[in-house]
Amino acid sequence: MERNIIAQNFIGQEIDKDLAEGVYTHVHTRFPPEPNGYLHIGHAKSILLNYGLAQEYQGKFNLRFDDTNPIKEDVEYVESIKEDVRWLGADWGEKVLFASDYFEEMYQRAELLIQKGKAYICALTPDEIRAYRGTLTEPGKNSPYRDRPIEDSLQLFRDMRAGKFQDGALVLRAKIDMASPNINMRDPIIYRVAHFHHHNTGDAWCIYPMYDYAHPLEDAIEGITHSICTLEFEDHRPLYDWFVRECEYPNPPRQIEFAKLYLTNVVTGKRYIKKLVDEGIVDGWDDPRLVTIAALKRRGYTPESLRLFIELAGVSKAHSSADVAMLEYCIREDLKAKRPRRMAVLDPIKLIIDNYPEGQVEYLDASNNMENPDLGSRKIPFGKELYIEREDFMEEPPKKYHRLFPGNEVRLMHAYFVKCERFVKDAAGNVTEVHCTYDPETKVGTGFTGRKVKGTIHWVPVVEAVQVEARLYENIVDEEKGVYDEAGNLNLNPNSLQKITNCYVEPNLDGAKAYDSYQFVRNGFFCVDVKDSTSDKLVFNRIVSLKSSFQLPKK
Ligand code: ATP
Ligand code: MG
Repeated sequence: MERNIIAQNFIGQEIDKDLAEGVYTHVHTRFPPEPNGYLHIGHAKSILLNYGLAQEYQGKFNLRFDDTNPIKEDVEYVESIKEDVRWLGADWGEKVLFASDYFEEMYQRAELLIQKGKAYICALTPDEIRAYRGTLTEPGKNSPYRDRPIEDSLQLFRDMRAGKFQDGALVLRAKIDMASPNINMRDPIIYRVAHFHHHNTGDAWCIYPMYDYAHPLEDAIEGITHSICTLEFEDHRPLYDWFVRECEYPNPPRQIEFAKLYLTNVVTGKRYIKKLVDEGIVDGWDDPRLVTIAALKRRGYTPESLRLFIELAGVSKAHSSADVAMLEYCIREDLKAKRPRRMAVLDPIKLIIDNYPEGQVEYLDASNNMENPDLGSRKIPFGKELYIEREDFMEEPPKKYHRLFPGNEVRLMHAYFVKCERFVKDAAGNVTEVHCTYDPETKVGTGFTGRKVKGTIHWVPVVEAVQVEARLYENIVDEEKGVYDEAGNLNLNPNSLQKITNCYVEPNLDGAKAYDSYQFVRNGFFCVDVKDSTSDKLVFNRIVSLKSSFQLPKK
């Protein structure tokens, strides 16, 4: 059977080996987001990878909130993350899990560590702890509290839990090795005092576990087999293994790391995105210029397109950066045969057909999508007055310009040949009307072969035109200057959003609703904006233009 593409990588091979050797009898993965922001395209990779592996091995997949740091967390993020994971198609089964539900068990296992002489209460200040830790080249020094009697540590730990200490007064530390070449193993902190309200446990706790301790226990408690994470945790793996072993979990999970997904010249870090949102530079976490999953969805990306993108990007241990052109390729691939085509004019000027009968309207047949006959066809009204794109007419055309200019003939898409006779300018010198004559013999579908024209342009009939707003996007950062300036701030692109309020679309948008997308011929793929569209006026986000420089790498 063909393998799930997302499982065809070194992680799939490691899992095959583990199953063959009987290390595990099944596969159970998880996606463990911290609810401190919206998910972005990098998280989509982690979700689709973990879920794809679970599917490939008929295993299980958990969605677990790593909510052990109440300071930065918020329920708004919990809801958005659930929605995004669901939208990507990852099924987490019966219920969402929360690390905070395991606080009691984590606490009990910490007491176990103390009782085994593997953890102690330390009263060094944070500065002292840092100074005692040593450096990459020098070993650390033992804390003077390291050999405090087990009973004392146990009592102090219970007092910490009971709220007898101020924030920062004491910490619980693992007793491992202050001379370890791996700094993570130098008696890391397990618990700290923090009098914070927690979104799930309220005020039940005033001590909270540190990530390096909490995470392996969460995995172990849930019976995760393969704990897949990104490369920055590679050096933490010995500690991960130490905690699950010393806390005495049978069948411990195995951590495997892969390289994060980066997009060249694109802001993905939660920290930077949050700043753009907080400063009001963007219209929320789902501003279509961002690469949060909510933003990609609002812009008009589909789960299928993101899956294709993640498959093409591949999973490996080598750091690399994917090109936005590849992401754009994926959405074009997904939409081009799926979505209906419509004619829309973004920058209108009037075209008047002088010899077309006044008041006459005929309805022309047009396929909804030549590549996909299943999408059927539509009728487009045609009359004496049309809108065309301003750039499809030139008073003095350069060489190789085959669209309208005085004396030239073009095809109006789905309709007739028209020949430009004259034009009208306003006082400011802008062209306001292009006058043409049409040739009734040249109607599309009648088999006319009398002569050929080199240009075909699209149009919208004035009679039934639907006025809409179109929004065109560029990268939110200025690629010429680089993403960050010297101070580490973003170099913003002042042209990242262009709103065009008087666009016209042919009258075939009945029932268009949020997230519906169309190919506007020659102009790109557009999606109905969920936030700003009203019953009076649709707002369309340009998902992507039609031109592409991207080439699939040769296999
Ligand atoms: P960031 O700071 O980039 O927004 P994070 O790592 O702080 O992300 P978490 O909520 O901790 O966000 O991440 C949840 C999971 O997503 C982790 O397992 C993490 O390794 C993974 N992840 C985060 N960013 C990426 C990325 N760019 N590519 C692949 N996986 C990622
Ligand atoms: Mg994180």
